[in-house]
Amino acid sequence: MTKNNNDIKSVYDPKLQYNKRLESAKKMFDKMDKDTVFADKKSTFFAVKASKDNGYYSIKQNNDNWLCNCFDYVHYIELNPKHECKHIIFIKLLVDKKQKIPLKDLTPLLDKEINEK
Ligand SMILES: [Zn+2]
Repeated sequence: MTKNNNDIKSVYDPKLQYNKRLESAKKMFDKMDKDTVFADKKSTFFAVKASKDNGYYSIKQNNDNWLCNCFDYVHYIELNPKHECKHIIFIKLLVDKKQKIPLKDLTPLLDKEINEK
């Protein structure tokens, strides 16, 4: 595990990584449909559809920081406290472009996340 982290650290360039994720987020934006993203009715909490399976990742704002529960975020946040995964970048893009995000009661997703901890 330690060896792995060192390998990643040596090739880790935050700016390059950010640009790659920004490209992914823009692709998500171009391809998004009515199921891609939801905003919770009650809180600053979003659900973004996972690209590989049918699940959703939960993205939430915590003061100035954004949190996601995807593998990418969980892994890289230890190396870079300012890390933003493509889901976070995607949400910020939507907010910037004042894109309307469909509202939904995401409580089941939140409950699921809490239960997994
Ligand atoms: Zn993510």
